[in-house]
Amino acid sequence: QEVQTENKTLVQKDKEHLWHSMSRFNANANPTIATKGEGSWFTDMEGNKYLDGVSGLWCLNLGHGRKEIAQAAYDQMVNVSYFPLTQSHVPAIELSAKLSSLLKGSYTTYFSNSGSEANEVAFKIARQYHAQNGNPGKYKFISRYRAYHGSTIGALSATAQANRKGKYGPSASGFLHVPPPYSYRSTFESDLAAAEYIKEVITWEGADTVAGIILEPFISGGGVLIPSKEYLTRVAEICKENDVLLIVDEVVSGFGRTGEMFGFMHSAGVQPDIVTMAKGLTSGYMPLGATAVQSYIYEKFKGEGDKQHFRHVSTFGGHPAACAVALKNIEIIENEGIVERVSQLGRSVLNELQDLETLDCVGEVRGVGFLFGIELVADKQTKAPAAEEFSGKVIAKCKEKGLIIGRNGDTIPGYQNVLILAPPLSSTDEDLRFLVDTVKTVIEECESQTV
Ligand code: PMP
Repeated sequence: QEVQTENKTLVQKDKEHLWHSMSRFNANANPTIATKGEGSWFTDMEGNKYLDGVSGLWCLNLGHGRKEIAQAAYDQMVNVSYFPLTQSHVPAIELSAKLSSLLKGSYTTYFSNSGSEANEVAFKIARQYHAQNGNPGKYKFISRYRAYHGSTIGALSATAQANRKGKYGPSASGFLHVPPPYSYRSTFESDLAAAEYIKEVITWEGADTVAGIILEPFISGGGVLIPSKEYLTRVAEICKENDVLLIVDEVVSGFGRTGEMFGFMHSAGVQPDIVTMAKGLTSGYMPLGATAVQSYIYEKFKGEGDKQHFRHVSTFGGHPAACAVALKNIEIIENEGIVERVSQLGRSVLNELQDLETLDCVGEVRGVGFLFGIELVADKQTKAPAAEEFSGKVIAKCKEKGLIIGRNGDTIPGYQNVLILAPPLSSTDEDLRFLVDTVKTVIEECESQTV
């Protein structure tokens, strides 16, 4: 009785005082309040156990409760608890060097607090870089429809989903959008044609006005889009030919999610000018954003003059404990062969999920590494997207059976029809078995109920 009363007050307090992100999904429903986590699983207040099939927000890559990571944070906090990066500290130095070697180039990193901020930093660096090169007119950024790059005004302007529309005044100027490669629905003949379209946009906008292109190697929240490997290779060439910086958003795809350390590494010959990271950088154990730029860009910012001064201050960016956590996270990923495991197991999970394509309600199942999308349709011939209620029903039924899955984010109405699975990279064979079996059973059940 006492426990129940206490629980009730917690829910009430939550409803009154806690503003959830993506509150559209939460405002009217009782929130799931996690009280215990273990590996890929968490337990809610009522004692229900769930497999987290989306790794929180695709960040909890090593699952809950890694004591080595907690220890790294503790050790750092009781030593140098905070120090600004206007000066320097050991974990930030070590992490910046480690990122450069993981990215297989010569990179210098600016640390911040989140993926959104990492992208803002990228935009500012790109514009200032061109200005210092004598090209202040190069200020535009190209991103793709369906992409999500963050919630702050610049990152939101690069985002091309419905959440940018209507409520927040005009987008920041200079943000252009092009269609992504999307073989299932695209009007383009091929993914390469989608790359050539970018070239055309640059030509007609004027290469002397375009600062950069920002893209995820695989659009994640916008519906798990898996282009052919040649797409990114070609986009990188187009960037080079036009002095346009290639900014690769590895916030979701970085640190093993796609079966490579970074998503861009699936494509030959791609060495991004700028790479942005967050989420998997710390496996969600600490907030940290990172913007790594090739050294030739950083060179332009050396010097004491106002022209070189990069005006972006981040009090908590590169917090010592967060950097220590990131270093330990990367050490575990490397020592436990996580990337190779994700690559191998990801293929077999995808094969099994693709059995679902025989159902009338499943248009396409696609994926890479531990990132899977199941596109639900109302009509397989016309490819009309399944109603939001249908994907909602599948998600709710999975939850009843102890599995949390997601769907594509705030795209445009009528297109919330891609289920998303992104389990922790450390998931056991049994965890993955449960994930695949539950999703398959639930979608089959939901289809049979609609017929
Ligand atoms: N880029 C991508 C691809 C993302 O998925 C997200 C977060 N969902 C962001 C950037 C923004 O990250 P954050 O929420 O840490 O600001």
